[in-house]
Amino acid sequence: MADPSRAAAEAAAHIRNWFGGTVPGAVLDGAAPPGAGEALALTDPVTGKPLFSYPVADAGLAAEAAAAAARAAAPWAALPGAERGRRLWALGAAIRAEAEALARAECANTGKPLRDARAEMARVAEMAEYFAGWCDKIEGRVVAVPSGHFVTVRPEPYGVILAITPWNAPLFTAGWNAFPALAAGNAVVLKPSEMTPLTSLRLGQMAQGLGLPLMVVAGGPAAVEALVAAPEVGKLCFVGSPAVGARIAALCAARTLPHVLELGGKSANIVFADADLDAALLGAQQAIFAGAGQSCVAGSRLLLEASIAEDFLARLRAGMAKIRLGDPLDDATEMGPVAHPRQHAHVQSLLEAAAAEGGRVLTAAPGPGACFVPPTVLDGLPPGARAVQEEIFGPVVAVQRFADEAEAVALANGTRFGLAGAVWTRDVGRAHRVAAALRAGTVWVNGYRTIHVSVPFGGFGASGHGRSSGAEVLAEYTQPKAVWTETRQAPPAGFGHLP
Ligand code: NAD
Repeated sequence: MADPSRAAAEAAAHIRNWFGGTVPGAVLDGAAPPGAGEALALTDPVTGKPLFSYPVADAGLAAEAAAAAARAAAPWAALPGAERGRRLWALGAAIRAEAEALARAECANTGKPLRDARAEMARVAEMAEYFAGWCDKIEGRVVAVPSGHFVTVRPEPYGVILAITPWNAPLFTAGWNAFPALAAGNAVVLKPSEMTPLTSLRLGQMAQGLGLPLMVVAGGPAAVEALVAAPEVGKLCFVGSPAVGARIAALCAARTLPHVLELGGKSANIVFADADLDAALLGAQQAIFAGAGQSCVAGSRLLLEASIAEDFLARLRAGMAKIRLGDPLDDATEMGPVAHPRQHAHVQSLLEAAAAEGGRVLTAAPGPGACFVPPTVLDGLPPGARAVQEEIFGPVVAVQRFADEAEAVALANGTRFGLAGAVWTRDVGRAHRVAAALRAGTVWVNGYRTIHVSVPFGGFGASGHGRSSGAEVLAEYTQPKAVWTETRQAPPAGFGHLP
């Protein structure tokens, strides 16, 4: 490449160091074979110049990865929990040691600001450490049945877990989903978005080097279909868009494969007039403009009590004008471009729909490159408008006004999604009432966006089902087996009924 972009040069350096020059189609059994699928060419979202290209994994390579994971599953499950924990802890340490390179690669590949990518790498290491601690604490129970039986319930791994992850936070979602599955004694096949494979492939190398059964496949729909069909796969966790999630769920249904779905959202950020409005203003900006709005929990609807709406909106627009848009690889950049041209086109189409439905489209100054979307407010849209109901996944917030608490809750719950939401108020009774009334898997009071590996996370409604962190996630990656042992010397003769 005669004149590579900064991101392409950065990506090339990591591709050389980690994989010897070309992006592999998979990492399995300690090897990094090339893909045999179509060549995928990616574009730097800042400059529009080529980023890197590689042949993605085809169905055959995906099937090989599933088989490799299956071979590794039983020996992994048979290890003492403490040994699994030591290896997972060592993986966390390896991630910390390589955090800067991982952050730079993530930044180059996704267009996410370097400061955000660095913070994410620390979180990923923390996830490995958190689940390392669980490995020797996954216990069954004894049930007191009304007979002479001794009944134990054993939590057993599924064998192979398939984790399918999106492009917006590749290594974060990889750790979020793969580490608890490994902790529970499963092998994992990780299938990152084919557009952002670099850090996940590297994670696979690191994990395999430390004796953890984490195979990685860099492929698109053909690889996914082969993996979902692979008989070795015992459960699937999908993180991605609602439309593809529904498609994956249909594939799972066809072979009765249990699954967890973590999908998108249209989360409501509710500001009451009695709130600390300075804090709420900052929170509203972070909620939607961080990560250029490409966050599943983005506060993409801002619900304002009518009495403060005009003033709050004016201050929000003034704040938007100060957000530093720029090259994600610059330390000072607060907001980068959206990740790729397809996403840019998707955001633009929803902005056009908003204007056609009568919305006022209020934007800050445009960014310095091909795929930038400036911070944008949509005002005056009816509740049924597409931009109010659909996930935009860009730095675009739809404003809705409400007269009282009941209307705020009704508007907040007025989409098919239920991933997250927030309420800003100084009235503690109202805070709890509204938090209880919101149909969402996560609610923040006087804050936004905080999530942690120790706290359960997941969606209500069309945002998905199942949970992906906290102690709750261990139930997703183990299946309970009941073992009935007869202890009586002369059990009563019977036909299947207690006692
Ligand atoms: P996506 O649905 O396009 O892709 C997700 C995964 O599915 C990728 O690995 C991709 O390769 C694969 N895929 C895409 N099309 C497919 C097809 N036709 N058949 C089979 N597999 C296919 O999602 P995305 O655009 O990469 O990510 C953004 C979405 O992810 C947003 O909706 C966001 O809200 C969601 N997300 C949710 C969470 C959560 O925890 N709830 C976290 C992060 C992102």
